[in-house]
Amino acid sequence: MISFNLRCDKDHVFEAWFKDGKTYDRQAKQGKVACPVCGGVKVVKAPMAPNIAKGASRGAAGKAHVQAAKLRKNLEKLRNEVTENCDYVGDKFADEARKIHYKESDERNIYGEASDEDAQSLEEEGIEFARVPWLPRTNS
Ligand SMILES: [Zn+2]
Repeated sequence: MISFNLRCDKDHVFEAWFKDGKTYDRQAKQGKVACPVCGGVKVVKAPMAPNIAKGASRGAAGKAHVQAAKLRKNLEKLRNEVTENCDYVGDKFADEARKIHYKESDERNIYGEASDEDAQSLEEEGIEFARVPWLPRTNS
């Protein structure tokens, strides 16, 4: 048995096993070697190990990039949900959160800015709130 790293015309690289090199040549020519990702039968032998390794590390970097983009998307979604469903109270967040907690103000969802001290005292009073990483609007 012999294994080849193959690449389809959509640049998917995969490994396939053949009885021998001739078997690969025959099967590839007959369109019997299909890419497991897209099913494409236009496959060629991909460059061997060193280049594959480079390709793999490039892939990992790409994946990290995708994850960062996804995280950003989630934060954007969160921000949009918050801005649509909550009242903006600016830097009065701690005051308002406290008033709502002690039922001095209508119960509603609010958002705004709070200093670290504010956040800490809210926590000590057992007032529920969440701190979220906020994306500046200008960046979107
Ligand atoms: Zn493919």
